[in-house]
Amino acid sequence: MFEIQVLGTGAANDPSLPNSSAIVTGYGTKLLIDCGYSVAREVLLTLPDPNAIDAIFFTHHHPDHAWGFAPVVTAWQDYGRRKPLLILATRWGRFQLEKLIELGFGPNWQPDFQIDWHLVPEPLMLGDMALSFAPTDHTVPNHAVRIACAGRVFAYSGDGRATPQSIALYRHADLLFHECHLFEDDAAVLGHASLRHCRDIARQSECGEMMLYHIEAGARADVTLALAHDRGVGLAPQGGVLRLL
Ligand SMILES: [Zn+2]
Repeated sequence: MFEIQVLGTGAANDPSLPNSSAIVTGYGTKLLIDCGYSVAREVLLTLPDPNAIDAIFFTHHHPDHAWGFAPVVTAWQDYGRRKPLLILATRWGRFQLEKLIELGFGPNWQPDFQIDWHLVPEPLMLGDMALSFAPTDHTVPNHAVRIACAGRVFAYSGDGRATPQSIALYRHADLLFHECHLFEDDAAVLGHASLRHCRDIARQSECGEMMLYHIEAGARADVTLALAHDRGVGLAPQGGVLRLL
């Protein structure tokens, strides 16, 4: 089984949608992608078992992608987690996450379960899933991820406009989740994709299907309308489950 559970599709300041986040399951292994401030509740609600998640990958470390980390880790501790947790992050990301724990709970607090670290962008095998990474063009370092499992490929952009490396990463993916913060290009908004840019990425990467998320609340109606007759590009389903195998 290769499955994507969409926990959140919201942009950073969206008052009505949880932060963008997904759980990817490859046979027996569960990977959480991003854990922002307003999606922590969905993580705990969706997977009440504190041992369910094997690893967390952080695309980048803005609050809407990383600041749910400390609440989730302490909840798992309170609910009795014992299984080691692998965290996939950059060097800066690890520093930030450890700092969030320290600032929240003091310098001596440690969970009863082991935390292991994997340095992004080194590729790795996580159970049956092969993960590789590429940088995007965002206001802070962001890595997109390609996850291959039993011959199918899911890719997830995190935030940012595409780069030649990220387009190569998405090549022939069966399903690509891409951020689409903007309806129209806006030179004043740095490090985010527009609908036109996303359509270019879909064409260049020759991905099977593209689903858009992280759409700024004010742009959602226009993006939704524009996609009504678009084949191959659609909206990521908030709360939905997608099966690739
Ligand atoms: Zn961001």
